[in-house]
Amino acid sequence: MRLREGDKVKVMAGKDSGRESRVIRVLPKKNKVIVENVNTAKRHQKPRGQTMQGGIIDKDMPLDASNVMIICDECGPTRIGYRVDGDGNKTRTCVKCGGEL
Ligand SMILES: [Zn+2]
Repeated sequence: MRLREGDKVKVMAGKDSGRESRVIRVLPKKNKVIVENVNTAKRHQKPRGQTMQGGIIDKDMPLDASNVMIICDECGPTRIGYRVDGDGNKTRTCVKCGGEL
């Protein structure tokens, strides 16, 4: 899993294909990500207590990580590469321009 929470991504497949949004959760074991306002499903919510209202809410459902691409500020949707510096620190880079992501 190369994506992280907060990454800007473009959706490449599914009903929200082409949409750009932000990763709000990463599920590494399932190789899935939850992207803000993408792949939403209507969920019926029962009222709970006095503060929570019942009704239909939109819930963001996980997407396969392979169906989103990170967006590089320089070149748009791209794949993630890694660069290791002299101290062994790994930096995520754009495979197209080599810039840090
Ligand atoms: Zn780039």
